[in-house]
Amino acid sequence: MMTRIHNFGAGPCTLPVSVLEEVRDEFLDFEGIGMSIIEDSHRAPAYDAVHHDALAGFRTLAGVPDDFTILFLQGGATLQFAQVPLNLLAEDETAGYVNTGAWATKALADGGQVAGAYEAWAGASTSYARVPAEGGEIDVRPGTRYVHVTSNETIDGIRFPHFPDVGVPMVADMSSDFLSRPIDWGRFDLVYGGAQKNLGPAGVAIVVVRRDRLGSHGRDLPSYLDYATHERADSMANTPPMFAIYVMGKVLDWMAEAGGLAEFERRAAERAGLIYDAIDGSDGWYRSPVEEASRSHMNVVFRLPDEDLERRFVAEAAGVGMANLKGHRNVGGIRASVYNAMPLDSVRALVDFMADFRTGNDLS
Ligand SMILES: *Cc1c(COP(=O)(O)O)cnc(C)c1O
Repeated sequence: MMTRIHNFGAGPCTLPVSVLEEVRDEFLDFEGIGMSIIEDSHRAPAYDAVHHDALAGFRTLAGVPDDFTILFLQGGATLQFAQVPLNLLAEDETAGYVNTGAWATKALADGGQVAGAYEAWAGASTSYARVPAEGGEIDVRPGTRYVHVTSNETIDGIRFPHFPDVGVPMVADMSSDFLSRPIDWGRFDLVYGGAQKNLGPAGVAIVVVRRDRLGSHGRDLPSYLDYATHERADSMANTPPMFAIYVMGKVLDWMAEAGGLAEFERRAAERAGLIYDAIDGSDGWYRSPVEEASRSHMNVVFRLPDEDLERRFVAEAAGVGMANLKGHRNVGGIRASVYNAMPLDSVRALVDFMADFRTGNDLS
């Protein structure tokens, strides 16, 4: 008998069962070609259709305007920490980084390796408990080409509820809340993220970039690192990560059928809201370390009265089918990641467990 657990992992993530079933059913013989889609040539008609459907599916679902191109790349969001500035900045140009946490810190470090990069806001001074308040808190120096933001900090559990006005275009790492809410494209020169948090299996990163920004770097880049290479080839300049793109295409279809980004924004608020309500209604026994207005709808981070209770919480939850609730090793505590495909019932199971665990352990 197959048992599926409640997977609260921060990534890779839970995927829709219907998508996994379709993949299973098609896996040995894809649409009558007599082999798996991952065995066929990436230049053959079967994969070509899958690939272009995924590109078109992303464009429609996310409402990407025609003046942006969509690239499917490898190297994860992590490679983009360097590839974005290599493509959007000449060597003497500069970007400002809003440093909201662990991922923004990495983006800033790699950005500084290839171009000018400075910290435009230092979240460390708030212990990464919030994002900057409206624009004014962010120090945008003259000549800044763009400001880099991390829409959701996966480890610290904070997000931008809306994006600040910084007076220059923004570039956003949206890895951990990708397509969990509509995107106002007019604010951005580029948006990127790995697929494996919200959109599919690991192996593909999606970069959506304003076409008129391509080739403006004036650098002599190796071909794979130059976005223009991938744009010209519809993201098939070399062998693409076929399996990841194939599964992601199905997830995008599933999201479109379920009602699109407004619906996923609503679902995310509902899921996260149930857990925050459980935290806030516990008379301080469960505690959120982040400020209310910045609370993530994807990664709900919370603490218990002590670390021993946190260890037991994680272990006992695992014992009843709730996996991967341990917080990131750098921050400790508990983290429940509730991405796009996380069923509401899994969240209800967690909230019930939280109540039971407190009843069994609250000695006050
Ligand atoms: C997971 C994550 C990354 C790294 O993604 P990879 O695809 O593993 O390189 C970058 N930024 C954020 C916000 C993330 O959550």
